[in-house]
Amino acid sequence: MSTPYAYFQGQIVPLEEAKVGVMTHAFNYGTAVFEGIRGNWNADDGCLYLFRMREHYERLAQSSRILGLEMNEEIDRLCDLTVEIVERSGYEEDVYIRPMVYLSSEVLGVRLHGLESDLLIFIAPFGPYLDIDKGARCHTSSWRRVDDTGIPPRAKVTGIYVNSALAKSEAELNGFDEAIVLNSDGHVSEGSGENIFIVRNGAIITPPPSDNVLEGITAATVVELAANELGIETVERSIDRSELYIADEVFMTGTAAHLTPVTEIDRRVVKGGEPGPITKDLSRLFFDAIRGKSEKYRQWCTPARVRVAS
Ligand code: PMP
Repeated sequence: MSTPYAYFQGQIVPLEEAKVGVMTHAFNYGTAVFEGIRGNWNADDGCLYLFRMREHYERLAQSSRILGLEMNEEIDRLCDLTVEIVERSGYEEDVYIRPMVYLSSEVLGVRLHGLESDLLIFIAPFGPYLDIDKGARCHTSSWRRVDDTGIPPRAKVTGIYVNSALAKSEAELNGFDEAIVLNSDGHVSEGSGENIFIVRNGAIITPPPSDNVLEGITAATVVELAANELGIETVERSIDRSELYIADEVFMTGTAAHLTPVTEIDRRVVKGGEPGPITKDLSRLFFDAIRGKSEKYRQWCTPARVRVAS
């Protein structure tokens, strides 16, 4: 039996009891920063592995710092609370954990200073986001990525996700699976919720964070796996839209999307129309790592065991 729990206003409570009022500042103005952490179910081990949880809380602290919000909790305690929520909730399937630091004051007025902030965590079951086997059909969005001079995309701010939602809906309503968003200079930035990589002549290339990209934890994982296991150092440089059309392989990474091959962009089939050899090698390494099947990368996985009711 599974019942979702949340950490809300300093206590672990059933998720259905975690409610905010209509005047909550974050609800009105998008003044919150958040994370998404995957819990990956491993049936053999009978546990969920929380993937790179500490790094997600470190990024939450950075996002809070960029907006000048108080995080109010130590990272060690947040990790312990997260394990507790996952264990109590009792899911035996992949889950998604959402920590959020939000302006909780119930007042009107756009600003970031002089308001109360709070931290919440909730959990939801969450299966595959994009089709990791068939790959994603993408198009270049007509929307541009927000710029660091507007709302910094390096911070995972809830309000920024209107930009992502515009791009994602446009893509889906036009019959594609995902959007590829260009930055204001016209260079490739990222997907609506994923980092993007291309492979050309055996080199792995991804845009630098200064192209208005979220500094992805999955992306960092793939970069490390490529270097350690395939001997390929990833090149960080700007990518033009036209380069997407001639790449040998394209894939996206993200907590929700895991590692998803891209098989079509703007109605041009990516070479061969199916995941290429480097994408396949990285996928195998990545999925072993996140499900705790790789001894070498076990330190990325925090086990959470479902509690059997006594
Ligand atoms: N870019 C954006 C805009 C995202 O929302 C995400 C998902 N958090 C990513 C990239 C991928 O980041 P990560 O691998 O840390 O989930």
